[in-house]
Amino acid sequence: MAKVHLEDIKRKFNNVTAIEDISFEIPDGEFWVLVGPSGCGKSTILRTIAGLESATSGKLFIGDTLVNNVPARQRDVAMVFQNYALYPHMTVAQNIAFGLEMRKVDSKIIQERVANVARSLALEHLLDRKPKQLSGGQQQRVALGRAIAREPQVFLLDEPLSNLDAQLRDDTRAELKQLHQELGITTIYVTHDQVEAMTLADQIVVLNRGRIQQIGAPQSVYARP
Ligand code: ADP
Ligand code: ADP
Repeated sequence: MAKVHLEDIKRKFNNVTAIEDISFEIPDGEFWVLVGPSGCGKSTILRTIAGLESATSGKLFIGDTLVNNVPARQRDVAMVFQNYALYPHMTVAQNIAFGLEMRKVDSKIIQERVANVARSLALEHLLDRKPKQLSGGQQQRVALGRAIAREPQVFLLDEPLSNLDAQLRDDTRAELKQLHQELGITTIYVTHDQVEAMTLADQIVVLNRGRIQQIGAPQSVYARP
């Protein structure tokens, strides 16, 4: 767990300003949700925190460390995308273990982590399958498992449920909430879905045209007049 602090972050692509004046500080262990219309800069903020984009200006801290110049693979951050992006030739267990293998974690610890993650996400009976033998919801649970197996300090999710049908979306959302309650990893979650934002968020950041329009608790953001 670590706090995440953005201070006046701006990102330009040539002449286009994707985001600007982005400042907020997420306390250790909180779950924040970014909402706003398509193109408002949600993904750019997540990708900047992950280190997949670099800020044009401003400061980004993870914990107390200024990470602007820290490459993605050295940030203690895990990201999950909308399209599961599993490795098709690997089993579920190998997919979950992959990030740990890359980091040369001891094989006994890897086995333990895979077992724990499989238990938390109800994947125990699927560990020997390949991704194409799984449903969409199961694949997305594997993607979540692969990300949390690393025990990152920060967890970034970019519309992770939007490819699932309604029932699976509800179930997976409930699992995500429980997982967060169990692990307490600082989480930033992008969605278009008001129900997801309402049920998951400690705080919601509303973006519009690359700027922050409002930051507040779910009740204050979605309160009806
Ligand atoms: P959202 O995730 O809210 O849909 P994005 O962060 O993807 O928004 O995009 C914000 C703005 O930045 C959009 O105008 C988009 O076209 C632009 N943008 C994002 N990535 C790039 C890129 N690699 N090159 C040029 N423009 C980009
Ligand atoms: P989102 O689901 O956030 O709307 P997009 O489909 O806008 O995602 O963007 C997907 C990818 O394309 C991202 O990596 C983003 O940086 C890139 N991208 C978005 N807009 C542009 C653009 N105008 N020019 C180049 N790349 C872009």
